[in-house]
Amino acid sequence: MPELPEVETVMRGLAARLEGRTIVRAAVNRADLRWPIPMGLAKRLTGARVLSFRRRAKYILMRISGGDSLMLHLGMSGRMVIGPLNPNEVTLHEHLVLETDEGWRIGLVDPRRFGSLDLMPTDREDAHPLLAGLGPEPLTENFSVGHLSAALAGKRTPIKAALLDQRIVAGLGNIYVCEALFRARISPRRLAHTIPGARAQRLVPEVKATLIEAIAAGGSSLRDYVQPSGELGYFQHAWKVYGREGEACERCPGPPGCLGIRRVVQSGRSSFYCAPTQR
Ligand SMILES: [Zn+2]
Repeated sequence: MPELPEVETVMRGLAARLEGRTIVRAAVNRADLRWPIPMGLAKRLTGARVLSFRRRAKYILMRISGGDSLMLHLGMSGRMVIGPLNPNEVTLHEHLVLETDEGWRIGLVDPRRFGSLDLMPTDREDAHPLLAGLGPEPLTENFSVGHLSAALAGKRTPIKAALLDQRIVAGLGNIYVCEALFRARISPRRLAHTIPGARAQRLVPEVKATLIEAIAAGGSSLRDYVQPSGELGYFQHAWKVYGREGEACERCPGPPGCLGIRRVVQSGRSSFYCAPTQR
């Protein structure tokens, strides 16, 4: 599932090809994904100029001339694929196709259809039901030690669950929460109300650094954020703890001195951590 850095690199890839361009043809190939696709979407996009992009949590917003924004979510398995225009090409599970005045063809491919598409006035983006209740963006100054401390005060859930709560901070997923907690030396099982103070001081910058490094890795490993296959975003990235059960972590010497990275299941999702150094 794409997480925030992947969505950010997908968005930058879209911006590289679409910003300032005119959409000469748009096609919507089904009536719904996770939710119904607005009627007349293809007609509204056709002829529009793409003004700018914005990411909010894991939603991509594409602002077009005429004052509307297309909102796109990649769901579990959605991919954006870009290539030169080829009229004979038929791509399976391609639900949205955009063709630009420069001859590029951009498709949304999503076999499992957990993604979504919606259209709204640009000046009402933040009032959209899927965006209205979101907490601050982790990479803005609104996600601060003060905000996090206030949000966690009195919370008796594990910090892992609290960081996945989109009302506390927007866009964090399982992988980056595991990574940030490792870097901040905080156990994913620690109760949230014990975080405010010194632990919050360590955690907030590590959340930001984890995301910034992953976004930078996407930018440096991909030309214009496009893979050789034409797929936007996504990139190889080495995790410090995620998916590394049983391996020695970079802080510990490994067996026999250390039992290695542990995996526990919290709220149905795997948490990976180093028990001796994450408290
Ligand atoms: Zn360790």
